[in-house]
Amino acid sequence: MAKKSTHKPTCSFCGRPADMSQGMITSALGDGTYICVECISSINEMLGELPGHSHGKGKKESFAMEKIPTPKEINDFLDQYVVGQDSAKKYLSVAVYNHYKRLQQHLEDDVDIEKSNIIMVGPTGTGKTLLAKTIARLLKVPFAIVDATVLTEAGYVGEDIESLLTRLLQASDYDVEAAQRGIVFIDEIDKIARKGDNPSITRDVSGEGVQQGLLKLLEGSIVSVPPQGGRKHPEQKLIEVDTKNILFICGGAFDGIERKIAHRLNTHVVGYSTDPARQKIQRDNYLQYVAPQDLKSFGLIPEIIGRLPILCHLDPLDRDALRAILTEPKNAITRQYKKLFEMDGVKLTFADDALDLIVDKAIEYKLGARGLRSIVESIMIDLMYEAPSMDIKEFTVTADYAQKQLQKAHFEDNQIK
Ligand code: ADP
Repeated sequence: MAKKSTHKPTCSFCGRPADMSQGMITSALGDGTYICVECISSINEMLGELPGHSHGKGKKESFAMEKIPTPKEINDFLDQYVVGQDSAKKYLSVAVYNHYKRLQQHLEDDVDIEKSNIIMVGPTGTGKTLLAKTIARLLKVPFAIVDATVLTEAGYVGEDIESLLTRLLQASDYDVEAAQRGIVFIDEIDKIARKGDNPSITRDVSGEGVQQGLLKLLEGSIVSVPPQGGRKHPEQKLIEVDTKNILFICGGAFDGIERKIAHRLNTHVVGYSTDPARQKIQRDNYLQYVAPQDLKSFGLIPEIIGRLPILCHLDPLDRDALRAILTEPKNAITRQYKKLFEMDGVKLTFADDALDLIVDKAIEYKLGARGLRSIVESIMIDLMYEAPSMDIKEFTVTADYAQKQLQKAHFEDNQIK
C-alpha cells in the first residue's frame, strides 16, 4: 500500500528521499523545496555540454555510488507510488539492488555475478510500467521503456531488434559507457510469443525470429545500434553497445496464461488430492503460481525464459486497490486535481461517496486503473472550465455531482460494455 507522507525531505526535482541521497540542499526561500546532490551533479554535467561551458567537460563518470539503496529502501520508494503488488516490488527491489552490486564488482573478482533479467506477468493496467517508471526515478543509471510489438526479424518491415537500445542511448545522451550499465523495460513481451506450442515450419515474422534476436541482447553481446532507431541501412553509422551489464525487465499481460497454469496445476492432481499444498490453491488468482513452463506453453522459447530467471506476477486490482490508487500514491489522481485547484486558490475535496462512485464506474465498465483518470476527467471538466473565473474558495465533489457530470458528458453512452 502507498505510505502516508513522511516528513523526510525529498528532492523536488527527482523525488528521491533524503536517506537515499548523498546530500540535500534546501531552498533559501524556506518553502520546503530541496534539491539532491545527484540532481546537482546531473545539472553540472548538462552545463558542461552547453557551448561556452568548459565545466565538467571531458570527465568520464565511473560507476561509483557511496550508498546503494537497500532492497527495503527501494521497496519503500516504490510503495510511495504503486499500490499493492508486494511480490513484484520485492523481486524488483532485489534485482535492482543486485544490479548495482554487479556494477560495483571488481573486475579481478573470481566470482562473476551474472545478471538476472526479470519478467513480470500481470493483467494490463495493473502497474507493470508504473513500477518500471518509478524505479527509473530513483536510479542513477540510464533507463528506457520500449515496446516489443514494433519489433520484427531482420529483413521484414518493422524495427530491428537492436533499435531497443537506441532509446537507452538517447536516455544516456549517447554516452555509451553509461548506456552499457542501464536498464531497459521491454513492454508487451507476450506479443512476440510463438503462436502455438510447436515450432512452426512457416515463418513467424513477429514471433520466434524476434525472440532469437532478443536472445542475443539478453545474453550479453556486442551489438550495433542505429543511433536514430528504426531500420538499419548500409550508409548509417552504427554505435557498438555491449549488453553484458544492461539489465532487462520485461513485462506482459500474457492473456489466457491462467488457463495454462490451471491446466498444469490440475493435471498434477490424480483422483483425490491429499497434498495440503494443492488443496490450498487459490483458484481465483492462478497468476500467482506462474512458473517458467507456463511461459513456454504460452510461446516463449526456452532460451529466452532461461535468460529471464526472475519471474514475478502482478495481482489483478480489486475494488480496494482501485480506491487506494485514487487517493494514496504520492501523485494520486485526486491529489493532482487538488493541486490544480489549489493553484487557483480553491480547496477541492472529494467526498467518500464520490470516490466510491468513481471506483464503481471503473469496475462496471471494466476500465481498471487506467479508466480512473478518464472518469475523473469527465467529472471535473466543467468545474475546471468555470472555477478560474468564479469567486469560490472551496468545492466538494459529491456522488450526486459526479453522477450528474458523468451523465452530462455522456460517459455511460460512450462505454461499450
Ligand atoms: P501496465 O501493467 O499495463 O503496464 P500501467 O503501469 O501502465 O499498466 O498502469 C496504467 C495506469 O494505471 C498507471 O499510470 C497508474 O496511473 C495506474 N495504476 C495501475 N496500477 C497501479 C498500481 N498498482 N498503483 C498505482 N497506480 C496504478
